[in-house]
Amino acid sequence: MLRALTGAGTIAGLAAGAAGTMGGLAAGGLLDDADAMPGTPVSAIGVPTDGPWRPSPAHVDVSWAVDTSQRLVALTFDDGPMPNWTPMVHDILDEARIPATFFLVGQRVQENARLIHGRMDRHAVGNHTWAHKDLTRMTHPQAYQAMHRAHTTIAEVTGKEPGLLRPPMGNIGGTTLSAAGALGYHVVLWSLKMRESYLGHPPGRLIDYIVDNTEPGTILLAHDTGHRDRLIAIRGLPAMIRGLRAKGFEFVTVPDLLAAAGTGAAKT
Ligand SMILES: [Zn+2]
Repeated sequence: MLRALTGAGTIAGLAAGAAGTMGGLAAGGLLDDADAMPGTPVSAIGVPTDGPWRPSPAHVDVSWAVDTSQRLVALTFDDGPMPNWTPMVHDILDEARIPATFFLVGQRVQENARLIHGRMDRHAVGNHTWAHKDLTRMTHPQAYQAMHRAHTTIAEVTGKEPGLLRPPMGNIGGTTLSAAGALGYHVVLWSLKMRESYLGHPPGRLIDYIVDNTEPGTILLAHDTGHRDRLIAIRGLPAMIRGLRAKGFEFVTVPDLLAAAGTGAAKT
């Protein structure tokens, strides 16, 4: 497993933040339901209370971006594979000959396996759960199942074993982390995203925003399905790729970006 990264984050940081918002309740002990703040879902607690669940000695890294001085950027696509959209993205990536990381929805991989058949060689895969439901509303066994089922299908269809998890909507609860830890996942969020709804018009605005705001180690979020606005980002991709290359950026997969994190790797 990769080490925690400076500029990214670790469970220790998350736990400290959670403890703060919970008034210090989460300081290491088990919580009874009665101890939770009113309205706090049980799954938001660092140590979930569902049933006889016991924590495993797991370690989970969470990365938003990577601390590197190299001009590397990881382009990521969530929610596919879906008809029309995903082949269009693959065509653009093939034309530019760049790798990307696809956070795949297990159910869609099963339904649309033909869309990615033979097209994933250069790319990395990540787990985006089985049905794209909010993990922070799930018990540990439910979250585990949502990840495990997707893991199996993604591995079968793509021939690649996912080691990265991106929780739907980026929502992280206690059981998201306990299940991710049990499956040995590195949780990957993002540090920059396509803002089609806000910056979509004129189209050059979004292109400039991405090219201007990408930094060494950026993990960039895009989608290969969704509402129509997202087509603005896909249509703008070739210009974004050209613009970033002109600034000296190289596109890498998320696993390669994490591996390139050099100095500053924190102890785990
Ligand atoms: Zn998603």
